[in-house]
Amino acid sequence: YVGKKNASMLHEKLDTLTVGEFMSSAKVIHEGMTVYDAIVHLFLEDVGSLFVVGKDHALVGVLSRKDFLRAAIGNQELDSLPVNIIMTRMPNLTVCEKTETLIGAGMKLIEKQIDSMPVVEQVDGVLKVVGRMTKTNMTKVLVALARDEEL
Ligand code: ADP
Repeated sequence: YVGKKNASMLHEKLDTLTVGEFMSSAKVIHEGMTVYDAIVHLFLEDVGSLFVVGKDHALVGVLSRKDFLRAAIGNQELDSLPVNIIMTRMPNLTVCEKTETLIGAGMKLIEKQIDSMPVVEQVDGVLKVVGRMTKTNMTKVLVALARDEEL
């Protein structure tokens, strides 16, 4: 049982945590990469999703494990199919910014039923990927808070 005082302290603390402090580094690939190479990339980088960039390094899409599985069970040549054919694309992407609260970002992940989202920054009218916010990031924070560790 968390006492009323502790609970309100925790609440206050949670409101100060931002995406920028807890995000991971982004793993991006180019939209022209083949699905086959992207799958290899997913294993090498040991991530669950990849973010896709196009011209000027602008964010254009997201690829998750399920997107790759869907492509793999279809009758398609994975080594000649570019990822931009199978990715989830703009404007349907859920993104967040460094300055957003961690709780706000967590709510987006739950609401959209996704595992991760790109952390973005608008640079000269182009949406650049600066990080990655995942359910794992959220879980680590929860455990650290429970253990009363320094955040
Ligand atoms: P998994 O494939 O392991 O279930 P997700 O739940 O993250 O992983 O992805 C489910 C679907 O949602 C996929 O089609 C994926 O492209 C899409 N998706 C994942 N992340 C995002 C995001 N940030 N914005 C929009 N769509 C996303």
